[in-house]
Amino acid sequence: MRKAIYPGSFDPMTYGHLDIIQRAAKIFDELTVSVLNNKLKTPLFSVEERVKILQKAVADMPNVKVESFSGLLVDYAKSRDVPVVIRGLRAITDFEYELQNAQTNAKLSRGELDTMFLTTSLEYAYLSSSSVKEIASFNGDISMCVPDFVAELVYQKYGFLKK
Ligand code: ADP
Repeated sequence: MRKAIYPGSFDPMTYGHLDIIQRAAKIFDELTVSVLNNKLKTPLFSVEERVKILQKAVADMPNVKVESFSGLLVDYAKSRDVPVVIRGLRAITDFEYELQNAQTNAKLSRGELDTMFLTTSLEYAYLSSSSVKEIASFNGDISMCVPDFVAELVYQKYGFLKK
């Protein structure tokens, strides 16, 4: 069985993430979307909230499950017996950081964990969780960035009603 993990902050999940999830789910038999519990970042949504959002978004994808994890990705992947990590690439600016991470993980896992990159679909190339938060914090329109139910939750966080 071909298994992969798609790790990230997903704070919040955007259409860009969803696009990568849908495409990776076609390539692998089982895809685990894993929310990183990163104590260094101050997120807008708690890990539990982010997991719930993703679970709702992938409810109609039978081979996709959602989990959270903390600690090293290589240890987490090994504990789940998963040899492949999926990451999305938007632009050349993502590349340097992602390449370094992929090589570090390959080294740490002694070659057992590979990283597979899916390039963003063009319509989502501009999208990031940070820009969604910035726009929403000024009560701007994020309907082209995230599903309606996510937009509602984001506006609530900033004390606005859904636009
Ligand atoms: P992280 O904090 O781990 O970078 P993110 O939630 O920002 O987590 O992103 C998770 C993964 O999804 C990363 O590989 C990122 O490059 C990718 N990603 C984010 N936004 C998009 C997008 N619009 N299109 C394609 N991939 C994306």
